[in-house]
Amino acid sequence: MKVYNTLTRKKEEFVPLVPGKVSMYVCGPTVYNFIHIGNARPMIVFDTARRYMEHKGYEVNYVSNFTDVDDKIIAKANEEGVSAQEISERYIAECKKDMADMNVKPASTHPLATQEIGGMIEMISDLVEKGYAYEVNGTVYFRTRKFKEYGKLSHKNLDDLRSGNRSLLVTGEDQKEDPLDFVLWKPKKEGEPSWPSPWSDGRPGWHIECSVMAKKYLGPEIDIHAGGEDLIFPHHENEIAQSECCNGVPFARYWLHNGFLNIDNRKMSKSLGNFFTVREIGEKYDLQVLRMFMLSAHYRSPLNFSAELMEASKNSLERIINAVSNLNHLLGNASGELTEEEAVLIKELDGFEAKFDEAMDDDFNTADAVSAIFELVRFANTSVDEKSSTAFVQAVKDCLVKLCDVLGLIVEKDEEILDEDIEKLIEERQAARKARDFKRADEIRDELQAKGILLEDTREGVKWKRA
Ligand code: AMP
Ligand code: ZN
Repeated sequence: MKVYNTLTRKKEEFVPLVPGKVSMYVCGPTVYNFIHIGNARPMIVFDTARRYMEHKGYEVNYVSNFTDVDDKIIAKANEEGVSAQEISERYIAECKKDMADMNVKPASTHPLATQEIGGMIEMISDLVEKGYAYEVNGTVYFRTRKFKEYGKLSHKNLDDLRSGNRSLLVTGEDQKEDPLDFVLWKPKKEGEPSWPSPWSDGRPGWHIECSVMAKKYLGPEIDIHAGGEDLIFPHHENEIAQSECCNGVPFARYWLHNGFLNIDNRKMSKSLGNFFTVREIGEKYDLQVLRMFMLSAHYRSPLNFSAELMEASKNSLERIINAVSNLNHLLGNASGELTEEEAVLIKELDGFEAKFDEAMDDDFNTADAVSAIFELVRFANTSVDEKSSTAFVQAVKDCLVKLCDVLGLIVEKDEEILDEDIEKLIEERQAARKARDFKRADEIRDELQAKGILLEDTREGVKWKRA
């Protein structure tokens, strides 16, 4: 399996530190509102990467944090006149609901920044002791220039950064030794949550939490660190500086970054106000459609959100769901073992799976993996029919459902349909026939048939039975 590593700017063969195991850290959201579909992109694409690695037999320890202490959370709390904790707890619960609806698996651990303050104070103390950090008036800064490899992830040169950062000198941070130094701990302001520390009553800077949580739950050296590409600089660059100066070993071996979800070719973001929440999209679509939309592009490419692409994703997903439903229907009537002809055909299934794996092995190319699934759908639609044996139909269905499951796509609907819903559809079909809308009438008959409901037109009216 090859992955593109932002650190080396190359696709590299993935070799985990411990054979058969993967340690993976994904930066999670700051919880002060409902998540938008831009935030959903890293959740979906890295969940898919995790599922694929599990499919390949790796045991994946997947850690993703919630940033629950931050200026924006405090601002929202003040706006509503409630505590910061109330805000963060509310939006963590909402975020978890969205994740479940997008079929994003819960992480092995979802640590919260506010629960890890002790570990952060320890790491900051360690950095001060080693000379990588210093305190001025209750604030602790990281001494950026002391870490010789600073800039290696974002491929930035320290002197370019310095000239770009000159403006910082006039923003009240002139107590820093160097404009490039960043905050590890800051003293509290009136009305802010705070914790005691050797330097001041205050709270941590943003970057330190991920260094601490990754170390605590995965160890000082991890396999994969991931997040959106806006995190490369300064967040991930700073995480590397903190972790490597403290631990003395390389932090993460592979750095994976997803491209932006754009709207009208601009990054979707809360600050620009050009966003849709996952919740809003969920009112219009099953969130499996959003997942399908995200997987239709490579995770590193920019992806432009549009109603047309969502409709196309909806249709694509429906094609797969219909194929599975049709296979289920055929299974209801099929019997017997593989015929000779089927024994030859069934070998093609390995080919579809190999194509799927080959795409995913190439830096998680989900777009090509989805194409392999569509080839399998075409195969199912053309090679399986009423005469097929149970063994054959089952094998085709299992292969299709398995590959969709690796992408986290739920394609097997609960086929249970209530009697009253059946009656309603039959009524609608009768009305359609009366209006000579035979297309709709047929659609309803097919829809019911796919759910295993057989209709019979009799003199007394329409009768139905479950197959
Ligand atoms: P935030 O809550 O802003 O820290 O973002 C949480 C995660 O969502 C980070 O990995 C961001 O990089 C990612 N993210 C935010 N906006 C977008 C976007 N428009 N497209 C893709 N990823 C995004
Ligand atoms: Zn982080």
